Amino acid sequence: RPAVRIRDVHKSFGNTEVLKGIELSVPKGSTTCLLGPSGSGKSTLLRCIAFLEETTSGLIEIDGDPLGFADPGGGRSRTRLSAGDIRRVRAKIGMVFQQFNLWPHMTALGNVTEALVTVQGMKRSAANEIGNQQLARVGLSDRGHHYPSELSGGQQQRVAIARALALSPDILLFDEPTASLDPELTGEVLNVMRELAETGMTLVIVTHEIGFAASVGQKIAFLDHGKLLLDGPPAEIFGTP
Ligand code: ADP
Ligand code: ADP
Repeated sequence: RPAVRIRDVHKSFGNTEVLKGIELSVPKGSTTCLLGPSGSGKSTLLRCIAFLEETTSGLIEIDGDPLGFADPGGGRSRTRLSAGDIRRVRAKIGMVFQQFNLWPHMTALGNVTEALVTVQGMKRSAANEIGNQQLARVGLSDRGHHYPSELSGGQQQRVAIARALALSPDILLFDEPTASLDPELTGEVLNVMRELAETGMTLVIVTHEIGFAASVGQKIAFLDHGKLLLDGPPAEIFGTP
């Protein structure tokens, strides 16, 4: 079964319907790139997958666990997951944002390990070991003791990726991860994502980097005005070169 299955998802803010019946499935171990003009609903869809927004109707299945609202014949009832189930499902999902959201008063290693210690209750030494591994994975082994203000934007975003990876998510979501970076720093973040894709992680990436999407995405989904206009392999969406 797919890592994520989105079934007839609608989302409104007040009277404005922002997602209009999205159907999409994200195969396990694949990279899906979500493209579309600004305001088309990409970020909202990603936030629904990450539990940061609740759908207005429709279901989002995370590895088979249904979140959201079933609609049995016009009714509307929230799927019944226990608080424990919700926590378990949530823990499967990591997210990286456009703004890196690092804690400024903590070092890179501190940022990466904070949740391991305070949320997961891990011993500091064990957390540091994982943190150093993940910093190495994003090419920042030598930056663990640096504060965010001492790092470039590209390095800060790589710390944010290491922080998400440290929690070992099954699915990693990226919301325009390079949009606030200078062009010369974009490449290093795209390279890290490319390497993660090659390891067979399940990635969903909202991006305006069409070249990256075409070469790394196994699936391209194109949103416009809250509807999924296109959904298929890059060769189908962009044409075979
Ligand atoms: P995209 O990521 O494709 O740029 P978004 O999902 O951010 O699009 O936004 C889709 C639409 O939903 C936009 O018109 C935006 O203004 C609106 N929107 C997003 N979040 C909210 C919110 N919290 N309250 C009201 N409107 C919102
Ligand atoms: P609380 O009511 O304290 O926020 P809940 O466990 O009810 O705690 O929900 C936490 C968050 O998880 C909510 O913001 C909600 O959006 C989301 N959530 C809870 N249950 C579901 C569900 N069945 N489908 C989608 N999202 C849910």
